Amino acid sequence: MRKFSDPAALQAWSSEVRARGETIGFVPTMGYLHAGHLSLMRIARPKCDHLVVSIFVNPLQFGPNEDLDRYPRDERGDFAKCESQGVDVLFFPTPSTMYPDGFQTRITAGPLASPLCGASRQGHFDGVVTVVLKLFNLVQPTLSVFGAKDYQQFQVIAAMVRDLNLTVEVEAGPIVREDDGLAMSSRNVYLSDEQRLQALSLNRALARAEQDVAGGERRVATLLARARAFIAANPLADIDYVELLDAEKLTPVDHIERPAVLALAVRFGPTRLIDNRVLRPA
Ligand code: AMP
Repeated sequence: MRKFSDPAALQAWSSEVRARGETIGFVPTMGYLHAGHLSLMRIARPKCDHLVVSIFVNPLQFGPNEDLDRYPRDERGDFAKCESQGVDVLFFPTPSTMYPDGFQTRITAGPLASPLCGASRQGHFDGVVTVVLKLFNLVQPTLSVFGAKDYQQFQVIAAMVRDLNLTVEVEAGPIVREDDGLAMSSRNVYLSDEQRLQALSLNRALARAEQDVAGGERRVATLLARARAFIAANPLADIDYVELLDAEKLTPVDHIERPAVLALAVRFGPTRLIDNRVLRPA
């Protein structure tokens, strides 16, 4: 596995590879890798000649009171995990090489970035699309794989690819969960035993909603009230949002007539967890 920290050196490598007509698969991450990240590498690996993983905790997508400074890191563990998945190139730039003095240009995400995490994390998705476009320009991937766990993030990135005529293909990999159903997240490491136990209510609320829809329930107000009450019954859970939106447009719906996404963000102490499920009427 080759390692690059210099963006220009990485870009020279990817230009050579693409000039030879070879394909590049790309999985961007913020590191502290877990089985969810590795699943994305396994999706990309057989579909490309070269697999690139980036590890970059992107300051642009963190708000002033968020966890940029205490985001978990494990460089050595991450390297070993990438090697175990047959990664060819690991890219781990620093903030000052990605955003040197004089850096001033931002991409602005569109209306898909307004609800859900976009409402509670002002500017977050502008920071995401800006770094992802930079990474795409450096890595020059033919395919890039993202996780469905960050449902809105994938929709926003797919819109950027369409809107700006990028040539990369983007694919979403399914949410990987712990055995007890908790969606894997680098932030799970911060949960106390008690918080972690109560955080199981997130996936259970999603599963119950799915069952309700399978049983014929179509009223969004009813589904939302049940999911919110189920999670709020846990005293350590502080709900940021629980919303049910059209799965494609991310706009409000009253009844589930087409696929809709039940998306939630819940704080346990300072740790904010997200999860979602696409609900499909039979
Ligand atoms: P992050 O390191 O949190 O920025 O995540 C990097 C990529 O991994 C994003 O595309 C995430 O959606 C994806 N990801 C994170 N957690 C999971 C998970 N539990 N299952 C599948 N993909 C995930």
